[in-house]
Amino acid sequence: MSKWKSAIIDADRNKDWKDRLKTSIRQVQWSESLQLIVDKILDDEQLNVTDGCNLFETKNLNELGHLANLHKIAMFGNNAYFNSNVHINQTNICVLACRFCAFRRGPKASDAYALSIDSYLSELEKYSSYVNEVHSVGGLHPEWDVDHYCSLFKRIKEEHPHVSIKALTAVEIKHLSQVSSLSITETLSKLQDAGLTSLPGGGAEILDDGVRNIICNGKESSQEYLDIHEAAHDIGLPSNCTMLFGTIETAKQRIEHMIQLRDLGAKTNGFQCFVPYPFLPDSTRLPMAQLSTGQEILRVIAISRIMLDSIPHIKAYRMNIGDSMAELALQYGADDIDGTVKQESIMHLAGSKTPLNYGVNQLAKLVTRSGNTPIKRNTTYTEFEEFVPAKEPRRLPVV
Ligand code: SF4
Repeated sequence: MSKWKSAIIDADRNKDWKDRLKTSIRQVQWSESLQLIVDKILDDEQLNVTDGCNLFETKNLNELGHLANLHKIAMFGNNAYFNSNVHINQTNICVLACRFCAFRRGPKASDAYALSIDSYLSELEKYSSYVNEVHSVGGLHPEWDVDHYCSLFKRIKEEHPHVSIKALTAVEIKHLSQVSSLSITETLSKLQDAGLTSLPGGGAEILDDGVRNIICNGKESSQEYLDIHEAAHDIGLPSNCTMLFGTIETAKQRIEHMIQLRDLGAKTNGFQCFVPYPFLPDSTRLPMAQLSTGQEILRVIAISRIMLDSIPHIKAYRMNIGDSMAELALQYGADDIDGTVKQESIMHLAGSKTPLNYGVNQLAKLVTRSGNTPIKRNTTYTEFEEFVPAKEPRRLPVV
C-alpha cells in the first residue's frame, strides 16, 4: 500500500487544482444558469452571496453535483478520505440549553454524567490499539476548568502517544477561558502544550446572530466563533468548521455563513474541513424547524464544495446523514466521510441510526462503492495511506 505526506496548508490538495478545474469545466455544456457561475470561475472571480443563492435555485441537482464533483476531482482526483477514530463525549452536563440539543443534561438529571480522567482513559484504552484520533466534545461543565483538560490531555499523550486529540468546540473554549479567567489565546496555548492537536468545528450552527438567538441562545456569537478559530490558527492549531442547516435559516443565511468561513480560511489557511450537517428533526425541541430532504442535503454539500475554495475538505458526516447518503455525497463534491467513530451520543440521541460498529474495512468499502479510492488519513490531513479493503469470501448461492 502506498503512503505519502502533505503539508497542513495543502492537506493533500493538488497545488494546481484551479487549472485542472478550468480544463475540465470548459469541456462541459452547462445550462444557462450554471454557465454564469462557470464563467466567473474561469475568470478567477470569487462567488458572492447572489451566486450562492442562485446555486440554491438551480433546478438540475445532478448538474450542480457534477460541477461540485469536478471541483473535488481537480483537488483530490479519485481519492476520498477516512480515518480511524473514536468519539468520547466527556460529559453531558451543560450550563446552556440550546433548543436543538438532545444531548445536554442539567447536573441533577438522572442520566447526567461526567467522566473522571480515569474513566475517560478506560474508555480510550478499549480502542487505542487501532485508532489514531480521539474526538471529544461535550457539555459546558460548570466546574471543569482548563487545568482539568490539561491533566486529561497530558494523560492521553503519556498513555497513548500515537493518538491525536481533536477536542473542544469554540463554545467549550470560551467557557473554559471564562471559568479559568484566561484569555482565549492563553486557554488555547495551555491546551496545545498539554497535547491538543486540533479543534473540531462544532457549534458554528448558522453564523447569524438573529438565528443563533432563537436556536442556541447564550452560545458564543458568530464573531466569537470566528475569533476563537482565528486565535487557534494563529498559534498553529488547525480546525474544522461546520454548518447546522435545516432549522430556521434561509438559503441566503447559509451562503453568508459559508462566505464568513471562506474569508477566514483564506486569511489564516487554518480550516481543514467543512462539515455541513442537517438538523435531525424532533418536533419537541424545535417544532418550527424545516426538514432537510435527501436532495437538499446533496445540494448543500455540492454548494459548499463550489463556494469554499479556501477550505480543502468537505465532509459527508455519516454519523448524521447515514451511510447511503454519505456514499452519494462522495459524488456530489464531498471527499471525506470522517471515521470509525465507534461510540457517539450527540447525533444518536437526536435520532441518527448510523451504525457504530464499523471498522476501516467497511469504511473503505463505502468509499469504493462511491467510485472513489479509499485513503486512510491522520487528523491533520498530513499523512495518507491508500487502503485496499480485504476481500470478503464469495457468497455461494442457496440451492
Ligand atoms: S449544543 Fe453544546 S452548548 Fe448547547 S446545550 Fe448542547 S451541549 Fe450545551
